Amino acid sequence: MDGKYFESEILNAVRKSEINKYLELSKSYSLSYIENINKRNVYPTSKAIRDLDIFDESLPQTPQTTEEIIELLNTYGSPATVAQTGGRYFGFVNGGILPASLSARWLSDTWDQNTALSIMSPIASKLEEVVEQWIIDLLQLPPTTGVGLLTGSSTATLCGVIAGRNHLLKNNGLDITKTGIQSSDDIKVVISEEAHASVFKALRMIGIGSDSVAKIPADSQGRLLVSNLPEIDNKTLIILQAGNLNTGAYEDFQSICTSANQKGAWVHVDGAFGLWAAASENLSHLTKGMELADSWSADAHKTLNAPYDNGMILCKRREDLINALQMTGPYIISASEKRDGMMYTPDMSRRARGVELWATLKSLGSQGVQELVDELHHKALYFADQLRARNFEIVNEVDSNQVLVYFNDDEKTDKLLREIQESGVCWMGGSRWSEKSVIRISVCSYKTTYQDIDISVNEIERLSKSIS
Ligand SMILES: *Cc1c(COP(=O)(O)O)cnc(C)c1O
Repeated sequence: MDGKYFESEILNAVRKSEINKYLELSKSYSLSYIENINKRNVYPTSKAIRDLDIFDESLPQTPQTTEEIIELLNTYGSPATVAQTGGRYFGFVNGGILPASLSARWLSDTWDQNTALSIMSPIASKLEEVVEQWIIDLLQLPPTTGVGLLTGSSTATLCGVIAGRNHLLKNNGLDITKTGIQSSDDIKVVISEEAHASVFKALRMIGIGSDSVAKIPADSQGRLLVSNLPEIDNKTLIILQAGNLNTGAYEDFQSICTSANQKGAWVHVDGAFGLWAAASENLSHLTKGMELADSWSADAHKTLNAPYDNGMILCKRREDLINALQMTGPYIISASEKRDGMMYTPDMSRRARGVELWATLKSLGSQGVQELVDELHHKALYFADQLRARNFEIVNEVDSNQVLVYFNDDEKTDKLLREIQESGVCWMGGSRWSEKSVIRISVCSYKTTYQDIDISVNEIERLSKSIS
């Protein structure tokens, strides 16, 4: 070597650094975060947010110690987090994080496996295979179903519509994976006017603009009106929702999917948080008939309380998913009898989500998943009952975990929402429903107790008294 080849002093120091010490530091701050989660403001204080200015610096030229970095994160980062892993965060549909999921994530982050190919990580490949089978069983989907583990429902829906379009056009004699899309051969898309924005985004990304989509009106709960469906044929892609993003309502899968199947149309179900109802015998009436669809998207990071980012695309005919997403190259060593994760997702390199998903499912068991889904529903019912008893109006049928609240008029509802958000006691988002402003409560964390709901309801009532 003789000094001919470069060696970095900086990296020499990094190689000698004591990782144990840093991991211990992170661990102690993590544990204290978890212990104190319910004692802090659910939404960061304005001071905590102002203090984030400390991060406004240009990239330092010289290295910082890991200790300094972790200290900075703990001192200024933690207070500016949203306490969504506590019991009183009801915003969006975010979900908490189960102990087994977090612990498994820590370990698998240390492994830092790439799950593109089975040869890159036998353990990641194995657990993806196991998780795929468990999910299919849990949601009672056809045994032919293939599952891709990806970032979230937005990406999952993107994959679903790509697989669907390819499949429909192939049945019409056109393999667009080879020819590319020809404008005159494009498909007809039918969605509910209540579809999630991510559905429009997915369609846009594959070149289907929102003006060219048939938007079907929905009923008072956001369920697509079946009688308004247009003529369906074997070039039709229908996108349905399991769990309306506002009301939590479910479509009439049985009748829509049955007629779609007869006509050779493709049905994708956006089941980001709602698909999990299929895992509960008490709630599976809501998803009845959804197993007749062709593809489904779901998030484990919502209802299932796995950490971000844990979405999945499920596709009834595995080959449709693989045809849409596979790739190959001279250096790609594919062991056909083992699972190569990249054949099921848009990514090649990818972290090992299967590890924490496996841990999440194993730690609950099918009974635990059912009880989680049931409990979130019951807590939403309790939330609604408590608010109704205090003269708030609940504008949706509480079928699942969503509660929409109205307080006298739009202006008062908006004002109350702002005060709730600033209270620090609990946090919920707002939306519009039936041309009204509403407070949107989503019960989606296993951490939420009936007592958390009492505390939140009392605070909402107290704040409402000063609004006239
Ligand atoms: C959250 C959500 C999405 C988007 O999912 P991401 O995981 O955030 O990408 C899509 N549809 C519905 C109904 C949702 O609730």
